Amino acid sequence: MIDFHCHLDLYRYPELAVQEADRSGIYVLCVTTTPKAWKQALALCADRRRIRTALGLHPELAGQREGELPLFEHFAGSTRYFGEIGLDGSPQFRDTQQAQLRVFSRILKIAATLGGKLLSIHSRRAANDVLECLANEPDAGTPILHWFSGSQTQLRTAIDQGCWFSCGPAMLRSAKGRGIAAALPRNKVLTETDGPFGCDGSRPLQPEDSWQAVSMLAETWNVAPAEVAEILRQNLKSLVNPVVP
Ligand code: MN
Repeated sequence: MIDFHCHLDLYRYPELAVQEADRSGIYVLCVTTTPKAWKQALALCADRRRIRTALGLHPELAGQREGELPLFEHFAGSTRYFGEIGLDGSPQFRDTQQAQLRVFSRILKIAATLGGKLLSIHSRRAANDVLECLANEPDAGTPILHWFSGSQTQLRTAIDQGCWFSCGPAMLRSAKGRGIAAALPRNKVLTETDGPFGCDGSRPLQPEDSWQAVSMLAETWNVAPAEVAEILRQNLKSLVNPVVP
């Protein structure tokens, strides 16, 4: 199965988390939160066949870490994956909104220049702004909105703009999250855990828990879990190896 948004480097015991992920056979996108964390995360996941490491600058850190943008640019050519990136419109980050916008726009510009990037994007309380930034940078690559929590109207705009979506157990536990999942184009859905931040009670989710999201999607879509798993496998294939017309 697939965990397309997991912070393997931020578990209490990162090496163990990576070992477990590897052993469980899950395909994992290890997102990072600052360019300074990139090299270490890359080394952490090195030689793990199903794990890829993404270069990120988390919107919640954009206020303090804007100065790492040159470092982001420096590493940008070494990976196909950018994440975690995006915007957060929650009240506690409102004073960094301008910095967030500068950082996110710059990263999308870098992505557009390099081409072919896959972007794991945070959009909490900022769906409109995220979608506007993406519309302004149409060559930035393929956006995958992680844990989307916008309105149904924003969701339709996102779908129209060609976005993909990664859904985890924490998102699918809420009625709103299931409402979003029900409306998604099934050929543009992946699973995620957002571990160790995504939790099951007080237990941080691990990549293997993306199976929980599979059963929850199966229930929401009224499709057998095995069929959902097959859809997700095909989706990952078409995302990573797009058929060029
Ligand atoms: Mn995250």
